[in-house]
Amino acid sequence: MTRVLLASRNAKKLAELRRILAANQVDGVEIVGLADVPDFPEAPETGATFEENALAKARDAAAATGLPAIADDSGIAIDALNGMPGVLSARWSGTHGDDKANLDLVLAQLGDVPDDRRGGGFVCAIALVHPDGTETTLRADWRGTITREPAGTNGFGYDPIFRPDGHDCSSAELTPEQKDAISHRGQALRLLLPHLAAL
Ligand code: IMP
Repeated sequence: MTRVLLASRNAKKLAELRRILAANQVDGVEIVGLADVPDFPEAPETGATFEENALAKARDAAAATGLPAIADDSGIAIDALNGMPGVLSARWSGTHGDDKANLDLVLAQLGDVPDDRRGGGFVCAIALVHPDGTETTLRADWRGTITREPAGTNGFGYDPIFRPDGHDCSSAELTPEQKDAISHRGQALRLLLPHLAAL
């Protein structure tokens, strides 16, 4: 068994990666989280891109533990806001992690933006860093439009105001399984599988 660290304290992210590995018959890889390794200082996310943030987190985790480490960074990039909130998605309203305030601010900013210019997409970057210095970065986009009213209670963050292309509902109205199958994070994790299998 190769132990691989997912540099996250989010139990849902750990469960999702383990589920995807099992469903794709990637055996021989055991995923552990930050709660399973000794504490090390976690640097703030200050990168200009999703890739930079993911890579910085994975590098720190690999260096601190000696394990191959995976880290992700994600957010929403809105066309009419020139790609913002982007890496600032979690703190867009000024308060880190206030999902409701973040989403309300985006709706207010897009108040006068017509329907045909409300495109945007969730982005997920994933980095895999091996203690021998090998680095891989992957990225996936999930396109859709920004609605005018929040709908749905599943998911988190901007899900209630994101209508994925090809769907008539928000991503907060999809079941977790439906979302995993098409989301930015699901896509990026599946791109990672061959790299994990090759460890
Ligand atoms: P992080 O990758 O955990 O730092 O998340 C960044 C932020 O992007 C979150 O706080 C959410 O606001 C937003 N975000 C990322 N992925 C999703 C998603 O799947 N649904 C809704 N919001 C998301």
